[in-house]
Amino acid sequence: MTDRATRVPAVVAGFRERFGTAPRVFSAPGRVNLIGEHTDYNDGFVLPMAIAERTYVAAAPRSDDTVRVYSRELKKDRSFKLSDAWARRGKWLDYIEGVARALAARGVNVRGADVYVTSEVPLGAGLSSSAALELALGLAFNTLGGGDLTPRDLALVGRAAENEFVGVRSGAMDQLASALGREGHALFIDCRSLEVTPVRLPLDDVRFVICDTGVRHSHASNGYNERRDECQRALALLQRAGRAVQSLREVGVEELDALQRILPEPLVRRVRHVVRENARTSAAVDALKRGHLAAFGRLMNGSHASLRDDYEVSAPELDFAVALAQREPGVIGARMTGGGFGGSAVVLVDGADVENLFESLARGFTEKFGRAPGLRLAMASDGVREEPTAGA
Ligand code: ADP
Ligand code: MG
Repeated sequence: MTDRATRVPAVVAGFRERFGTAPRVFSAPGRVNLIGEHTDYNDGFVLPMAIAERTYVAAAPRSDDTVRVYSRELKKDRSFKLSDAWARRGKWLDYIEGVARALAARGVNVRGADVYVTSEVPLGAGLSSSAALELALGLAFNTLGGGDLTPRDLALVGRAAENEFVGVRSGAMDQLASALGREGHALFIDCRSLEVTPVRLPLDDVRFVICDTGVRHSHASNGYNERRDECQRALALLQRAGRAVQSLREVGVEELDALQRILPEPLVRRVRHVVRENARTSAAVDALKRGHLAAFGRLMNGSHASLRDDYEVSAPELDFAVALAQREPGVIGARMTGGGFGGSAVVLVDGADVENLFESLARGFTEKFGRAPGLRLAMASDGVREEPTAGA
């Protein structure tokens, strides 16, 4: 997290150094999901918040149809021509090209551009650097091309880029959070209707802490799509057994016992996670609205156990950090966050105990794994925007 007033000039300077011209600058936040994991692609409920860490895209039009892009994180310079046929590369450029082509498919006049990307959101840490990139880039291409897509439209473009071009069959949570984040609020999202409801966070006395285990996943190449397949197979079995359901979201908690006769292992546990996680997420929003933080924390703890045991997407480093946090004074709840297989945990803690929690996590994690975790406070922030560059 850096001050906007110093950040934007640095991005402009980085662009100038590479491309020699003056860019416009766009940014979009990463997100931390507070509860509702692996429910988005099952048409269920999620509760993310956009965070202060952002991805910045500086861009200026070119006279040809080449998109040339530099990533400061990867220290790589790549380009493609919009007029060439598309082919998946299996690399980060797929995100860039995916956004450009998904926008063009929606009628935006995407033009050649020089693009400079830099991110405060760590890559592959479960904080959605991919959606932050898609949204900042989407707004950049849309604006340079004179398009009129809304942040919500851009979220769906980002999802299409990820689904169709990168090949990660993600739901819409990350992109909607990065598009529509609001300072001081989490977003309750119904992933069937895509209705987004800001929920004020009662953060006077408590804080959300993010603990990045440093274990890096790439959703383009891991068990994420496998879990999605399992959910689809489970749904097909339920339909074949005569259940009139279009998605796992329509399965009720009270039906779970009966499903044991229909679904084999591990599908029965996958469905149990999704169904209970939806119920937990609805209950969590209720708890927030009533200011019942202890109840919210218990739901976070339940979510972690379910992701670890039933959905099996946690990792030893995540389980360790969560268990350690849950024993510390002032901790109200803790869970892994994001798609899993590494990445980050999120902890709800009394404000007075934040310092102790940082110290305990740093010490305990380092003793166990020989390296320090990344620790930061999560600040609920605004979504995608163009940054003013006057004077930069
Ligand atoms: P997460 O979204 O949790 O960070 P993903 O695997 O979904 O993890 O997305 C990470 C991928 O997104 C990276 O491996 C890279 O391909 C791409 N990416 C994100 N940010 C950048 C960036 N600043 N520069 C280049 N590629 C990026
Ligand atoms: Mg991602």
